[in-house]
Formats: sequence, structure tokens, C-alpha cells
Amino acid sequence: RNGVVPEFNFAMVGALGAGKSALTVKYITRRFIMEYDPDLEGTYTKHEDWDGQDFVVHLMDTCDKEDSDPSRYLRWADAFIIVYSITNRQTFEMARQYMDSISIYLKGQGRECPVALVGNKIDLERYRQVNKSEGSSLATEYDCVFYETTAAEEYDFVERVFHRVIQETHHDKYGH
Ligand code: GDP
Ligand code: MG
Repeated sequence: RNGVVPEFNFAMVGALGAGKSALTVKYITRRFIMEYDPDLEGTYTKHEDWDGQDFVVHLMDTCDKEDSDPSRYLRWADAFIIVYSITNRQTFEMARQYMDSISIYLKGQGRECPVALVGNKIDLERYRQVNKSEGSSLATEYDCVFYETTAAEEYDFVERVFHRVIQETHHDKYGH
């Protein structure tokens, strides 16, 4: 350790209703809160002490509107967490579009950075519209990490995703 605490910027992106805000709040506070202003966009900070290392994670819970410019998070983020709901196929199709536009953007910038595809709301298994294999093959197509998770149950489900993204980002930015 050399006293420098690595700081990472992660952007939560995806369709309205996928659960970006719920996952953000769960990660930051360990609590599941049901209702948010769907138009709210915000950035939150969490100090992590994990695997013998301190990290600071800045998490942008994005909310894209028709006329909003995605470069605010495209430029800012060190990694992207693309969220869809397993109970809503349309959010999965949106996730595919985000995967595509983010990878095109990164290529254009000559940048590579970690992307995670996250299928949320697995506590609602009975309403599932998107198979796990569809999520994992989309992730394979873009060579990115894939998780299914839920903001409504144990914190571990959500922590696992963020820790993996921290690990990948740390590796990218600092090597080893
Ligand atoms: P966002 O538009 O992507 O930020 O979506 P929200 O986080 O606002 O979530 C949309 C709705 O889905 C809200 O009513 C949430 O309470 C609900 N929700 C989000 N994540 C989960 C989840 O993992 N399980 C369940 N059952 N509901 C969820
Ligand atoms: Mg939201």
C-alpha cells in the first residue's frame, strides 16, 4: 500500500424501470427502497474496504431522457453497469442497444473499459421474460461480465456484482 486510495467512477445505465436506482441505493445503503422519482439522476459515493484494499466508488445512477446527452457519463465513467429487468423483455432489448452504443463509443475513443451486464429482479422469477442464457450470450457477444441479481433480497447478491466490477476496473487502471 502506498497511501493512494483508488477511486472509480461507475455509471449505471439502462431502461427506465430496470432497477438502476434500486441497485444503486442497495449498494450504497444495503437497503431496498421501493419508490424513487424515476427522473432522478444522481451520483453517490461509497468507501469500500475489501480484499485488504481501500477503494472509493463513485456511482452515477443515470436517467436518460430523449434529449439528454449521454456523453456526461460516457466520458466520466471508468466502467459501465448495464441493467435490465428479467421480467421485462423491452428492458433487455434496451440493454442490447446500450451495449452496442457504449462499445462503439469506447472503440471510437480508443478506450477499453469494463462493462457488466446485469439482469435484475430475479426475486420475481415467476414473471421472468428473459432467460438467463439470453443474458449470458449477449454478454459473451460483447465480451463482458454477466450477473443476474436482485435489489430486493440479500445485500450479497448486489455486492458480488460491484466487487467484480471493482476488481476488473482496478486491474485495468492499475495493472496486476
Ligand atoms: P430505474 O428506472 O432503472 O432507476 O428503476 P427503479 O430502481 O426506480 O425500479 C423500478 C421499479 O422496480 C421500482 O418500483 C422498484 O422498487 C422496482 N425494483 C427495482 N429493483 C427490483 C428488484 O430487484 N426486485 C423487485 N421486486 N423490484 C425491484
Ligand atoms: Mg432511476
